[in-house]
Amino acid sequence: MSRIIAPVAAVVVGLAVVIGVGVGLAIPAAERAVVAAVEWALDEPAQHADTSGVPTEPDKDFGDVQVYDVLADGTLEPAVSGVAPEVWELFVRMVGTDVAGESIIQYRAGDAPDSDTLAYVYQDADPQYWTLAVNLAVADDPQLLIATLIHEYAHVFSFDDGEFVTDAACPTLALLEGCTADDSYLTAFYDTFWAGYPDAVDVENLDPDLAWQFYETYEEDFVSDYAATNLGEDLAESFMTYVIEDAAEGPTVAAQKLRFFDQCPELVALREHIRTELSVELGLR
Ligand SMILES: [Zn+2]
Repeated sequence: MSRIIAPVAAVVVGLAVVIGVGVGLAIPAAERAVVAAVEWALDEPAQHADTSGVPTEPDKDFGDVQVYDVLADGTLEPAVSGVAPEVWELFVRMVGTDVAGESIIQYRAGDAPDSDTLAYVYQDADPQYWTLAVNLAVADDPQLLIATLIHEYAHVFSFDDGEFVTDAACPTLALLEGCTADDSYLTAFYDTFWAGYPDAVDVENLDPDLAWQFYETYEEDFVSDYAATNLGEDLAESFMTYVIEDAAEGPTVAAQKLRFFDQCPELVALREHIRTELSVELGLR
């Protein structure tokens, strides 16, 4: 049975808080608007889109969504033009063709300007694979879109089935997905940042009111209020901020969370790749 890791994967308000946070985003808001207007030129304007052959399904967050199969080579089936495939192409540029084809099995795209949900991922019945769903209402804001896709991909790599072991006694974290491996990202992130709180929310909390209380008590520990939702969201929001922001300095726990990823060569490399590949869209040059 599939499980939705993050039904409200990245709330607009949460990301807005991230962008204003003290670690210092590379691009001021005004410049982001310029990037959006000038440099985000869609290859195929929406009026040329032909998505008539794409199956649709109702989605509880996004209304009707277009549903694409992701083939092993990272391409979409059916192959059409339009905003939805362009957002997919952005994701492929971000994580690489191989990773996209190996980890995502279905891509869903809706257009719901009134929804707070920007995107979400959930694991397939075969936990090796994921479905990625994106709200195309954010497609005209490249920074927000990229930040959202990074956040979602952080869920994919940190909840990858290889991050879990079968262990009934589970000395680490017993999550719905299983027991976190000793050397998993979630175990390390928990031991470093969450184990010491006497009053943390549950590591799988989904209640936004409890998250807000936790955030208000330890505001300097989090890159956004949404990060205080649970362990997985904290890791995803922190990783997204780590990629988008300049190097984090300072003694706050929030800054330490960004530097945490510097211990992982594969994530350092992913950050460098994204910042190079999407430097124009991110306003880094
Ligand atoms: Zn999330």
